[in-house]
Amino acid sequence: HSKRSGRSSYTLYDPQLDQATTLRRNMERDLRTALERPGELEVYYQPLIRATDGTISGFEALLRWHHPVQGSIAPAVFIPVAEETGLILRLGAWVLQQVCTDTRAWLVDTVAVNASIVELHDEHYASRVAQILSANGMAPQRLELEITESAFCERATDCEKNITHLRGLGVRFALDDFGTGFSSLGRLHNLHAERLKIDRSFVAGFGSDKGDEAIVQAIVDLAQAVGMTTTAEGVETSGQRDLLAAMGCDQLQGFLLSRPLPAREIERLLRAGSLKADLGIGTRLDSS
Ligand code: C2E
Ligand code: MG
Ligand code: MG
Ligand code: MG
Repeated sequence: HSKRSGRSSYTLYDPQLDQATTLRRNMERDLRTALERPGELEVYYQPLIRATDGTISGFEALLRWHHPVQGSIAPAVFIPVAEETGLILRLGAWVLQQVCTDTRAWLVDTVAVNASIVELHDEHYASRVAQILSANGMAPQRLELEITESAFCERATDCEKNITHLRGLGVRFALDDFGTGFSSLGRLHNLHAERLKIDRSFVAGFGSDKGDEAIVQAIVDLAQAVGMTTTAEGVETSGQRDLLAAMGCDQLQGFLLSRPLPAREIERLLRAGSLKADLGIGTRLDSS
């Protein structure tokens, strides 16, 4: 931090910093507006498929923001702003409500929703989730909350209370982007997550980096040893799919099967039975 204090004492005006602050403030303002204005925010869905037989076990909900002037803005850009400003609490509730409505008729085991660590630290988070689920008649057993690996809960905090509350209802948890954070293996089984989602950077290294293959195999074996299941993110090629299946990975997700799509597109594909086409394997799913 000596560098930072040094800089501030020499630089009276930092146009770059100023610009970043303005951009963030504008984005916060626009995000507030988006929450009031239907249509700007939309939940997309990406299929999660069983590695053994290619059937669809569920979908991951991924938030999209169609900004009226700037066009589509990536979650990696606006989620951090929502987290900094606390808007993520309203955004998360909006997503869950939308997920309940959109997926009501979808015959799948799992709908995965990303949860921010900021939400998990809010003392009312679990009761808000419970309320949204019950108001919409969605079984808690159907919901899997994805939390990034780095987002640890300390003991006896609101975060841990929320997780205990939700687990008591039957909500399941997955550790997202696994392998990129710094979790100690010893803490893994204390986390009470059912699933490890292997970060797509490892899958991307298949074929060029033997280390990545070894890491994925180790994660799959570790998960099996502690009674957890695994999902590989970012499956883009049939070669990656085959290798992951041979490694014993349980679930696959990626552009090979489908990009994230709007609910109506998913329903259209389900009706047409064409979600299975890319993989050439059957699916038992329909949208009746
Ligand atoms: P994530 O939860 O790890 O989601 C997976 C990301 O990988 C998504 O990016 C998805 O579009 C992308 N992806 C899926 N398959 C492939 C593939 O085969 N290749 C490549 N290159 N990418 C693939 P997206 O939608 O841009 O979301 C980025 C992140 O933003 C998510 O990462 C999640 O951390 C966060 N996010 C998205 N929606 C929400 C939300 O509703 N709430 C919260 N708190 N965070 C969200
Ligand atoms: Mg996720
Ligand atoms: Mg992920
Ligand atoms: Mg990721």
